[in-house]
Amino acid sequence: MHHNFLFDLDMTLLDFHASERKALEIVINASGLKFTEDTYLLFKEKNKSLWLELEKGNLTRTELFRQRFMYLFEQSEGDHSELDPLKVNDEFIYTMSINGVLMKGALEFVQKLKREIPDARIYIASNGATINAEGRIKSTGLDKYIDKIYVSEWMGVAKPSPEFFDMCLEDIAEPKDTCIMIGDSLTSDMLGAKNASITSVWFMPQGDIEGSMKKYEIDYCASSFDDLFEVLRKWSEKM
Ligand SMILES: [Mg+2]
Repeated sequence: MHHNFLFDLDMTLLDFHASERKALEIVINASGLKFTEDTYLLFKEKNKSLWLELEKGNLTRTELFRQRFMYLFEQSEGDHSELDPLKVNDEFIYTMSINGVLMKGALEFVQKLKREIPDARIYIASNGATINAEGRIKSTGLDKYIDKIYVSEWMGVAKPSPEFFDMCLEDIAEPKDTCIMIGDSLTSDMLGAKNASITSVWFMPQGDIEGSMKKYEIDYCASSFDDLFEVLRKWSEKM
């Protein structure tokens, strides 16, 4: 039997936003346009409104990808007459996938977990695109400590659905009480753990902590990697 730790990826071990910003800066500069402090904010805002349109069925993915860069070209200083927004979008997606950014202290934390907790197995349970998750993990060196990566895209199911966790658990092939889910999101990680009846740790809790813990039946909270290590150490000794 092992201690099976299931970690959410974004804003738990990796900083999605920092990675996205870095990739955007690289591709905008490479396109001969000027990247400024506003560029990332403009991109975020536009991207968000386009995703809402896509969810309403008013837009295709390709249109979304085209429009978000067309908009950015128009807002940026420099000549964009020769630029193809879809090509720049492809470069952006690729660049992001090789530019993972760790949350501060994440690598040391994972190394310590592997070293100090007997029979620790570390898994990633993430919603998103497979190449993006796997590439970013590898680019930070985290991959050396991870036993397996579960990503919603290749699995065909996403957190918080019980099917997502059923697939992970079936693959891990050990009793449910040897597993613990750690994540920052209430609506995907904590709700998912509740739906699947897995022990949960809410990482970096915010807002009405007590109310949320009740609502999502959260077992533990941790506000730093040091905190998290202690929570996981105690859980593993008790198990
Ligand atoms: Mg997250």
